Amino acid sequence: MNIRGLQRFTMVDYPGKMACVIFTGGCNFRCPYCHNPCLVFDPESQPLIRESQIMSFLESRVGKLDGVVISGGEPTLQPELPEFAVKVKNLGFAIKIDTNGSTPDIVISMLKAGLIDAMGVDYKGPAEIYNIVARSKIPDLAARVHKLLQYVADHHVPIDVRTTVHRELLSFDKLKEMRDELDALGIRQWTLQQFNPVEIISDELLTIPTYTDRELIDMARVLGGITRVRGLKGLYLD
Ligand code: SF4
Repeated sequence: MNIRGLQRFTMVDYPGKMACVIFTGGCNFRCPYCHNPCLVFDPESQPLIRESQIMSFLESRVGKLDGVVISGGEPTLQPELPEFAVKVKNLGFAIKIDTNGSTPDIVISMLKAGLIDAMGVDYKGPAEIYNIVARSKIPDLAARVHKLLQYVADHHVPIDVRTTVHRELLSFDKLKEMRDELDALGIRQWTLQQFNPVEIISDELLTIPTYTDRELIDMARVLGGITRVRGLKGLYLD
């Protein structure tokens, strides 16, 4: 496993559980708003954490933490992921995988093997512009993500489907298309994440105003289903 980061404790990344987060290096997307450009472009810039170090840490947290979040980058690009997950499960931890959904067959086989208890999936855009938003040339990308979401919905896997929203990338009409696609897949809960102007892949986005918190909330209301918002700046007053 190419592990390039460890957050020893979190109460927000795995809903309902006290957990740690493991960050893997490398990703097959180049989302312009990505907050982990070093993990995407240059994972070697971050110190490698040996799997033995992670396992020692986890052994010390048995009975203190409930779960382990495996995030990235894109963790499913790690060939050793299923084997690593078996070791983590053998210590008694629940596992949540944060994935961009581009490798449905790997994730589905891990779900079938009981190696994943919950998931976070970034839903990047409507099918017609999925590759553009993700800046990826993976063929049939939207179909891949849909395949995973369909399986997850059909098997009632706990999932957090979220979309980072910037005006430059997703208009309201595009968000409506996404809501319709998720409804068709059986995914009801969806979270719109406010764009966070920190260190990201595309500096250009920092220069273009995005939706206000109020606009984001209003759009979520109109979109319907169970559409929520996250990451507001606290400036909104009704
Ligand atoms: S999928 Fe996630 S880690 Fe990969 S570039 Fe996009 S935001 Fe960054």
